[in-house]
Amino acid sequence: MESFTRMSDTSDSSDKTDDRSIVSANRRTFMGAVGAITGASALGGSALANDDGSETELSGGDSRSGDAHNAIVVIPDGAGQAHISGARYLKAWREDPEEFPLNITPDGTSLNVDRAEQIGGMSTQPDDPDQLITDSAAAGTAMATGTKIYSGAISGIGTEENFTPVRTILEAAHDAGMATGLVTTTEITHATPAKFASHVPDRGMGEEIARQYVENATVDVLLGGGKHHFDPEEREDGEDLIACAQEQGYQYVETDDELDSVDSRKVLGLFGSETDRSTHMSYYVDREYVGDTDEPDLVDMTEMAIETLSKCDNGFFLMIESGRVDHQGHAHDNAITHEQLECDEVFGTVLDYVEDPSTPETFAMQVADHETGGMSLGADAYDMDWEAIDNIRASLEYLDDAMDDYQGTDEVAELIEKRTGLELSYGELMDATGGQLTDVLNARTQMGWSSDSHTAEEVPAYAHGPNAEFFGRYFDNTEVSVGIADVLGLEFEPGQEIDYEYQE
Ligand code: ZN
Ligand code: MG
Ligand code: ZN
Repeated sequence: MESFTRMSDTSDSSDKTDDRSIVSANRRTFMGAVGAITGASALGGSALANDDGSETELSGGDSRSGDAHNAIVVIPDGAGQAHISGARYLKAWREDPEEFPLNITPDGTSLNVDRAEQIGGMSTQPDDPDQLITDSAAAGTAMATGTKIYSGAISGIGTEENFTPVRTILEAAHDAGMATGLVTTTEITHATPAKFASHVPDRGMGEEIARQYVENATVDVLLGGGKHHFDPEEREDGEDLIACAQEQGYQYVETDDELDSVDSRKVLGLFGSETDRSTHMSYYVDREYVGDTDEPDLVDMTEMAIETLSKCDNGFFLMIESGRVDHQGHAHDNAITHEQLECDEVFGTVLDYVEDPSTPETFAMQVADHETGGMSLGADAYDMDWEAIDNIRASLEYLDDAMDDYQGTDEVAELIEKRTGLELSYGELMDATGGQLTDVLNARTQMGWSSDSHTAEEVPAYAHGPNAEFFGRYFDNTEVSVGIADVLGLEFEPGQEIDYEYQE
C-alpha cells in the first residue's frame, strides 16, 4: 500500500493550537504508511505530534465558545413528510385500533419528533443546474461540509476528474479535541456516514473509504454494516483493516452481545450477516420478527455510542443514520413505517439524553437528506389498511428471497400469511409469484409511490437545544454544518479545501 497521510490536521493545526486542545497524535508506522496519525486519544488527551517526532503538550479542557458541549444529528435517509406521518399512524393504530384514525391528534398520538423545540424544512437539491434531484452523497456532502457538489461525490468540490476534498463538520469537531461518532444501519462506508469522515470523488469507493476511516482515526465510534470493506479476504488489496483498527486502539465488535461489553473509548462495530442481496444491516422488521440475527438494534447502538462518546471531557459530535428507510423507499416496502418508527425511538433516546439534568448542554436535530419513493399515504381510495401494515413481519427483501425457495402457490400463500397476515386471492398469488408481490401488497394497504428513485421535495427538520431556532425555518442543506459549527463554537468554514490525499 502506498504511503497515505492526512495532512490537514497535522501540519496546519500546529499553528493554531493555542486556544484549542488537540488530539494526541502518536506518529507511528501503520500498514506501511508513514505518517498516519492515530488520534488515539481524541478523548481528552492533549498532545500534538510535531514533524520532528516530538510532541507538544497542550492544555486540555473545553475552550470552545459555543452554546453546546455536544451535538447529535439523526438522519433518516430518504424520509419526507409522509414517512413521519406513516410512523405516527402506525403508532396510533398500535396504541388504539378502536379509536384509529380519530386518535391521530397531538393529544392522541405523539412521536418523539414532536418533542423538538423547533420544526423547519430543508432544501435538498445538488449543485447542478441541470439536475433538481440529489443522491445521498451530494446531499450529505452539502450537510457535512457546507458546500454543494455533483451527485455521487463524497465531501469535496470540483468534478470527478478534478476533485478537491473539503473539510467536514466532524473533522472540525475532531480537530477541536472533541470525540466523534458515526452510527448507521447501512454499510458504515455508505454515502451518508462516509461524507462526514472521508473524501473520494465516487461514493462507490467503499474500500478506500474504509481505509481512510481506519488510517485517519478521526472517528472514535464507528458502528454499522459492511464488514467486507475491512476484511482482508474480501478487500482487493488484501489489507486487514480490522487488525489495523485494533492497532489504532479500537475495540472491535460484531454482535449485539459484544457491543454490550464495550469499555473502550474507540469502537469499531461491524454487524450483520452479509448476503448476495445485501451487505447492510438487516431491516428493522427482519431484526425484530424474523430474528435469526445477532445484530444490535439502532437504539442500542445509539445508547452505546452516547455512553462511549460522553466520556470525552471536550464534548462530542455524533451522527446516527437510519439508513435503510431509503432502501425501503426505493423498494416500495410498507415495512418502511416500522423502520421510521424505530428512527423516532432513536430520536427519543437522543432527547432523553439531552434532557437529562446531568447532561451538559447538547444540541440535537433530526433531518433527512432527501425524500425517496414519492411515498404517499393513500393511493386510490379514501382509506388505508393500517392493520395490514402493522402486521408486517418481514421486509420485501426477505419475502422475495424466501419465495425463491418455495415451491407452488400453497407454500407462497402460507409464507405471505405468516409474514403479513394477509390471505391472498388466487389472482393475487399469481401476481405475487409472477414478480409483483410489491404491487399486490401496496394495493391491499393503499400506500402509494410515485417514484422508484429520490424526489425533489423539501424534507422536515426537527431541532432541539441551544440555537435550535436557527433551524426553525426553511433552510438550505448547506446550513446544517454551519449551524452546528456555530452552536459548538467550532472553527469551520464551508467548503474549506484541505490538503488530503486519497487513493484512486
Ligand atoms: Zn439519501
Ligand atoms: Mg444513507
Ligand atoms: Zn436512495
